[in-house]
Amino acid sequence: MPPRQTSVGDTILRGKKVVVLTGAGISAESGVRTFRDNDGLWENHRIEDVATPESWARNPSLVWKFYQTRRRQLLEVEPNPAHMAVAHLEGKCKSLVLVTQNVDDLHERGGSSAIIHMHGSLRSLRCQNTGLSEVRMGEHDLAEGFVLCNCCTVATMMRPDIVWFGEIPLEMSVIQKEVEDCEVFIVIGSSGHVYPAAGLVNLANSNGAHTILVNFELPINGRDFDEVHIGKAGEILPELVENW
Ligand code: NAD
Repeated sequence: MPPRQTSVGDTILRGKKVVVLTGAGISAESGVRTFRDNDGLWENHRIEDVATPESWARNPSLVWKFYQTRRRQLLEVEPNPAHMAVAHLEGKCKSLVLVTQNVDDLHERGGSSAIIHMHGSLRSLRCQNTGLSEVRMGEHDLAEGFVLCNCCTVATMMRPDIVWFGEIPLEMSVIQKEVEDCEVFIVIGSSGHVYPAAGLVNLANSNGAHTILVNFELPINGRDFDEVHIGKAGEILPELVENW
């Protein structure tokens, strides 16, 4: 059966426990490229060359350069109306937990609070020795050269604070519990290809939540949602939120 296309305004979130999961699509209208373009590349790189622990071990200079470019880009982009709409949603429900697969900081700058960055964050770097993260966005931190930590007696090289393919996403037990407990689960701008995030809709469904998708196109798991809104998040989400 095709997913139900609903009209604006037929879901009331007031008084509900809500979990929102966002993906790269919510930042697309801010000028941040999504993950896979039609050619299967991310910013002209194969995922295996820049987003795995193996690629870091094999060619740290390439991986570092790739993420330093993404980190510097944060200074040039701004949150768009979809980020603002998610922040606005907080005041409309009983509770809202925002889980993002995004590594940018546009939800923070769009006004959301208590964001779970399940795939890490571009703003911070992680000591390879202790595993401690530090926010490092100074001019020197964004230059081409590697950055050393402040936590070790003998300063250690830091890695991007990103969860790469083959690594375990952050705060999974908290995320699973929140999704199990929520009454409404909303996914915005995600292709449904990257697990375990893509499977959370099934967890929400099996616990009786109402599931909603807002995406530019019907993704691979689009039929798992009770309600689907197709369009650019920055264009359709503000009105949806206004009516929810
Ligand atoms: P994805 O790139 O695999 O899929 C993005 C989805 O968003 C697609 O289905 C696309 O149709 C949709 N989309 C594109 N423009 C949209 C718009 N304006 N409004 C609504 N939907 C739109 O993204 P994913 O599922 O999040 O998986 C990507 C992985 O890559 C994540 O792990 C993430 O950490 C990482 N990533 C993050 C960023 C970021 O932080 N902004 C950017 C690229 C990749």
